[in-house]
Amino acid sequence: MRRRGLLKGAGVAAVTAAAAGGGIAAAQQTGESSPSTASVRLRWLGTNAWEFTTGTATVLIDPWVSRFPTGAYTPEGADPETEIEVHEDVVDEHLPKADTILVTHGHWDHIADVPYLAAKTSATVLGTETHLNLLRAMDAPEDQLSQVVGGELYQFDGYTVEVFRSSHSASGEHKRITFGGTRPGAPPKRPKRIEDLVEGGSLTYLLDFGGVSFFNAGSASFHEREIDGIRPTVLFLQPGGGHTPDYVERLLAATGFPPYVVATHWDDFDEPLTEPAAIGADWKPLRDRVAAASPDTEFLLIDHLEHHDF
Ligand SMILES: [Zn+2]
Repeated sequence: MRRRGLLKGAGVAAVTAAAAGGGIAAAQQTGESSPSTASVRLRWLGTNAWEFTTGTATVLIDPWVSRFPTGAYTPEGADPETEIEVHEDVVDEHLPKADTILVTHGHWDHIADVPYLAAKTSATVLGTETHLNLLRAMDAPEDQLSQVVGGELYQFDGYTVEVFRSSHSASGEHKRITFGGTRPGAPPKRPKRIEDLVEGGSLTYLLDFGGVSFFNAGSASFHEREIDGIRPTVLFLQPGGGHTPDYVERLLAATGFPPYVVATHWDDFDEPLTEPAAIGADWKPLRDRVAAASPDTEFLLIDHLEHHDF
């Protein structure tokens, strides 16, 4: 047993960024409240997989829960030849419903479960031409796939989704994108290995429920001029972005220093979803930079399968 005994039930560690020393100022229990008393319930399913639930709608971003070992957080990095697995029983257990699925980019840890989920839930799926082609090649239902390029603002039942052009975060000396590339035109042959799920362009999303809104980028990158002026209630931030000068500070400024920052995509996703998140990329430097740049922002750390009500 790792940390489960210590953290189970802790729900959300709400860290007031202004706290002296940037430490944990308060831990709040959120497990008791019901969705009916909150406008939006936010639940973390590891990686950048988030579920937003209201009384009438369920929206998912990058819903991936199958989790098969790839070595992503070892010094060698993910083995490109790792075969893609979809664990339908795990998807069924953790993701019972969806009305809309937002895809930020094509990597396996973002889209591999989407074809099965889309077929199961009849959800509308937003993504680039490449994302949708990869999903088609994995048997996603064609008539649910909505191609976007960035710039769209769509009305759904009880919420809006605004789409922004973006880029994936770069890595290494030559600022490369892992499994880069696109698959425009005719769908490719069925992706079998994780390297077959190419990035395919990146998107960011502003999900607005009226009164509370969320900005999510599936990767540690954003287009500063594209999102200029948005004012989300909640900004998702992930470790990385090291090739962008002042990445955290710029993103906070571009989004108007939001009331809340939620840490995302920091867990080692070779480790189980049903255990407390094991750190893959440390969130603590993020917390400290948010505290320094935006002292009134509350930094929220939500553990695996835990939720926070907004
Ligand atoms: Zn990625």
